[in-house]
Amino acid sequence: MSMVNHNFSRLAGSYLFARMKDELDRFKSAHPEVDVIRLGIGDVTRPLVPSVISALHRAADEMGAPAAFRGYGPEQGYQFLREAAVRREYAPYGADISPDEVFISDGAKCDVGNIQELFSTDARVAICDPVYPVYLDSNVMAGRLDNVVYLPCRESNGFAPEFPAGKVDVIYLCSPNNPTGAVLDRAMLTRWVDYARTTGAVLLYDSAYSAYIRDPGIPHTIYEIPGAREVAIEFKSFSKTAGFTGLRCAFAVVPKSLERDGVNLNQLWFRRQCTKFNGVAYIVQRAAEAVYSDAGWREVNAVIDYYMENAEIIRTGLEKNGFTVYGGKNAPYIWWKLPHGADSFGFAKTLLEKTGIVGTPGVGFGSCGEGYFRLTAFGEKSRTVEAVRRIAEAKF
Ligand code: PLP
Repeated sequence: MSMVNHNFSRLAGSYLFARMKDELDRFKSAHPEVDVIRLGIGDVTRPLVPSVISALHRAADEMGAPAAFRGYGPEQGYQFLREAAVRREYAPYGADISPDEVFISDGAKCDVGNIQELFSTDARVAICDPVYPVYLDSNVMAGRLDNVVYLPCRESNGFAPEFPAGKVDVIYLCSPNNPTGAVLDRAMLTRWVDYARTTGAVLLYDSAYSAYIRDPGIPHTIYEIPGAREVAIEFKSFSKTAGFTGLRCAFAVVPKSLERDGVNLNQLWFRRQCTKFNGVAYIVQRAAEAVYSDAGWREVNAVIDYYMENAEIIRTGLEKNGFTVYGGKNAPYIWWKLPHGADSFGFAKTLLEKTGIVGTPGVGFGSCGEGYFRLTAFGEKSRTVEAVRRIAEAKF
């Protein structure tokens, strides 16, 4: 018998990102004169929009007024925010979601990491490769490493996962995808929903970047697809939609019509959240509500437009210089196919040394990410332009 959860020792570890940081620290101390440009981080850089700031101030004042003060809030989130989320994120797309199916949280990371608690340790889990590492790591921690089926997303399949060979119980999908920037279109999503309906699998649909979708044909929510209410849980976040990476707010949608083994997953998630989660701060939920006001929505979309202009600058700039790149059209991520089959970590070092630019090696997101490099559009415009200029000049 052992006392500690040894599944943690089976994690691949974030050694690659730690090594990247070491490389950067070494480079900066050896070359203090170089003006380093960071196109690697997945964090936003633009400040919160005015509607959000006003809502924060108003809510903070309320908390100081005896009649308006609030203590513990509802674990599922305040009704005002759950209603606003439905009005802005679901009703316009004809998606039949009700506020009692929305669970406000402090991050999509926590939600996508915690949701696996609803499934048995024996559940077989399908995860895209490459993808946001939290899906895999949270399942490894829970003892499911040997139950993971990888869904390769490569150039040859347009970076879209194909159906797993054997039976799986849970399937993580991420669209727009981090890191490839690929999106699942209506036909692909319909096939996944039909597949899940036929096999009984549950889809965990991470849509944290849906606000970056530009192509009108791409669904903004999986619930645009008929039948999705019976098979899918969806995750959204205010982090990249509204610059809340520091403020923290997100939500999961668990439809009441989603049942497995005779158990209602909406009730299960409610029970889980009530036990382990205290809810998001009132003032933060008021700020999130303000994102969905008409003015707030205009303001956050202007910021997203700004980032997407950066994405366009990177994408077209690299293409003009003869590189093959993917993503960047419906996502803030550009997936750079490395020249001459370079390995992604080695390339990260070369790029840093030759140009002073920091990016993320594709292999950090899974073995199928090898040979690729992720650049992000979250920087400042003039710095993004300068980065592209340096890459063009370096002639890889
Ligand atoms: N899902 C994906 C695909 C992400 O890339 C990220 C953050 O980078 C998250 C979820 C986490 O978002 P949050 O800041 O809401 O925890």
